[in-house]
Amino acid sequence: MSISDHARELHQRAIIIDGHNDTLILHQSRGQSLDLTQRDENYHLDIPRALEGGLTCSFFMVGDTDHKQAMVLIDGAHRLAEEHPDQVILATCAAEIERAAAEEKFAIVAQLEGCTFADGEIATIRNAYRLGVRVVGLTHGEGGAGTTQQENSIFDFATPEEREQARHRPGLTEFGREVVSECNRLGMLVDLAHSSDAAFYDAVELSEDPIVFSHGGVFEECPHWRGLTEDQLRLLGENGGVIGMAFVPHFIDRENPSIERLVDSIEHIIDLAGPDHVGLGADFDGISVPPIPPKAEDLPLVTEALVQRGLDDETVLKILGGNFLRVIREVVG
Ligand SMILES: [Zn+2]
Repeated sequence: MSISDHARELHQRAIIIDGHNDTLILHQSRGQSLDLTQRDENYHLDIPRALEGGLTCSFFMVGDTDHKQAMVLIDGAHRLAEEHPDQVILATCAAEIERAAAEEKFAIVAQLEGCTFADGEIATIRNAYRLGVRVVGLTHGEGGAGTTQQENSIFDFATPEEREQARHRPGLTEFGREVVSECNRLGMLVDLAHSSDAAFYDAVELSEDPIVFSHGGVFEECPHWRGLTEDQLRLLGENGGVIGMAFVPHFIDRENPSIERLVDSIEHIIDLAGPDHVGLGADFDGISVPPIPPKAEDLPLVTEALVQRGLDDETVLKILGGNFLRVIREVVG
């Protein structure tokens, strides 16, 4: 796909925000340096290629189940900004993301993907805020001392019957409710990616702020449990939140995943909830198959596909990052 002049201009003008990647934790699990400033084709994302692809900001997963690991990854995010201030900003508010865009730097937002590491201790969540974390995923599918009442890490169920069973799994624990309230109080985004349906409904009802679903798909376009249903998407719209569309092929289309099919899901959300509630949540370095599009430097392909679909400039800018930025400004500051 070639990129039209119009799409290129729009892409350059956009503040582009990606709601989730696993790049730091993948580096850590391979025993490699957390310095992401070198080009490395073994990963979907590094900072030079993110900047090349026009990506302004990405939410970096910095922990889920293990406390020590979370401390190492949060330190890694800080060190990137401390050691490479010419390239990286650790953003803790919307203005810092805008500053990254203006200075052609890359903004990292620190994101937890599950709270099991906190072991039921809310002070841990407050400390995460003090360390710069601004997005709190309630679960990565864990049970135990987590925020949801039951193991829900069934990573590939598909049938309507299974979906129905998932909906009726118990929702938030007392600790989960405490985390949502504390996020509201402090100004952290509550992220419901990986949550069961019941936990989703519990959290949306409880939260006084818009929530995010940082990386997922549309269930009616592709029946995978990580997709939100039409009912959930309508509710997300009423809540004022945003879903980041994952570039995960099996969330997009089981048979023929493509950028076109990704845009079908985006349009589906716009039809249901309007243009203010959908963004990008690539899940780079979180999956073992090539994402669609495959790498950070390929992001202009998404803009081109959105333009080709006939979406107006304002809507394209919202999808690329404007919607996430609005929610960050509203909730985090
Ligand atoms: Zn995930």
